[in-house]
Amino acid sequence: MAGYDYDLFVIGGGSGGVRAARVAAALGKRVGIAEEYRYGGTCVIRGCVPKKLYVYASQFPEHFADAAGYGWTVPEASFDWPTLVANKDREIARLEAIYEKNVKGAGGETFHSRAMLVDPHVVHLLGEDRTVTADQILIATGGRPASHPALPGHEHCIFSNEAFDLKKLPKAIMIEGGGYIAVEFANIFHGLGVDTTLVYRGKEILSRFDMDLRRTLHETMEKKGIKILCHAVSEWVRKRPDGRLDALVTGGKVLTVDQVMLALGRIPNTENMGLEGVGIELGQTGAIVVDQYSRTNIDNIWAIGDVTNRVQLTPVAIHEAMCFIETSFKGNPTAPDHDTIPTAVFSQPEIGTVGLAEDEAVKRFADIEIYRASFRSMRHTLSGRDEKMLMKLVVDGASKRVLGAHILGPDAGEMAQLLGIPLKAGLTKDDFDRTMAVHPTAAEELVTMYKPTYRVKDGQRID
Ligand SMILES: Cc1cc2nc3c(=O)[nH]c(=O)nc-3n(C[C@H](O)[C@H](O)[C@H](O)COP(=O)(O)OP(=O)(O)OC[C@H]3O[C@@H](n4cnc5c(N)ncnc54)[C@H](O)[C@@H]3O)c2cc1C
Repeated sequence: MAGYDYDLFVIGGGSGGVRAARVAAALGKRVGIAEEYRYGGTCVIRGCVPKKLYVYASQFPEHFADAAGYGWTVPEASFDWPTLVANKDREIARLEAIYEKNVKGAGGETFHSRAMLVDPHVVHLLGEDRTVTADQILIATGGRPASHPALPGHEHCIFSNEAFDLKKLPKAIMIEGGGYIAVEFANIFHGLGVDTTLVYRGKEILSRFDMDLRRTLHETMEKKGIKILCHAVSEWVRKRPDGRLDALVTGGKVLTVDQVMLALGRIPNTENMGLEGVGIELGQTGAIVVDQYSRTNIDNIWAIGDVTNRVQLTPVAIHEAMCFIETSFKGNPTAPDHDTIPTAVFSQPEIGTVGLAEDEAVKRFADIEIYRASFRSMRHTLSGRDEKMLMKLVVDGASKRVLGAHILGPDAGEMAQLLGIPLKAGLTKDDFDRTMAVHPTAAEELVTMYKPTYRVKDGQRID
């Protein structure tokens, strides 16, 4: 549209926003994008990427211990937190630069500024004190950790953002929450030698995942030394004279720790952005309401990624960006597909999962077959580590379609990526059985579980 400064203006330079800006610019569209903090967004700067680097860091003590069974003598290891933080910073700065460079390289214009809407075609760039106009506007402002203002002493607590950059590695930490971020950080801190307690108000960590995996991970984490308190919340947090923190949890127990981290969910970034003024519809949690094509109730304004609170994952934000491009710039209306999304929890051991959990499948199908294997992986035969791997297939007894695949153990995330393909394709247990095993691997169990371990017929388990 010649009358506007840009064909597309994107607000938010994270996973979704950068992808949309780069691809639209590469199509020859005039594109501007504003990022108020750092290009790359949550995933690159304070989410997936630094998290995974810290997971790697925290796994070394187990590797050192496991080496003995293979004949290695490893001298006493020591760990330097500032080195890890500095090396992580270097890597995310490298990625941040690439993200911005890629948009510019495709012909887009990048701004380092907070942006807000003035009217459906006008964006105010606060950092530059100017306004720009655009034919289409895409909001991809992501989310942030939910705060807990009702908790007395909440001002002493940190969130995942701060956990990455603590000046000092705490000696003891309490993490409140039971979602994947809480669980992953509990494993990270424990692996780095921190006395770790996880406090969760629900009955079992990681709701919405398969219960078998949730329970087995819980037990394994406890065996490693992570304390897990379910059905519990913190009631207050107080600073002690020695600078440490006391936290009272349900049941009257007071934990003395150096940090309390709250991981209580994430809320969409939609405040103070002029959305109400323009009349954009927001849902109950403040998320932007969109239709199946990611279009808001205002015709030329779209929203993708965490700010829409559909599925809060990086590949989903990127997929939604690509569908937005198809719909708005290629004349090919494409709705993002949120069905059967493979995902991982980078706990220790790791979870990899795709499709329906057993509980969910039982609600939807009359006859379910469960194929389940629990075994010590070959690696741990010599390491002596007492840790089981768990693999589970959830199959529709009538059609033999594999509805869910759930793994707990080393490299489970990598396996979930590959299992995503047959499950998305709707393949059956017979297809799995016809597939040759790769030997010796742990994953071969997935194609060699020939007989159901049990069935669930009309809600009744039959062994
Ligand atoms: C600790 C943690 C670990 C995670 N691990 C994983 C993982 O392992 N795998 C996975 O798939 N996902 C993971 N996620 C989730 C993933 O990071 C998000 O789903 C993803 O980043 C969403 O992308 P987005 O583009 O919607 O938003 P974001 O990446 O959050 O980007 C939004 C950007 O908009 C900017 N912004 C906000 N308001 C404005 C404004 N008004 N003007 C200008 N800029 C603005 C923000 O600064 C931000 O950079 C993790 C998240 C966290 C917090």
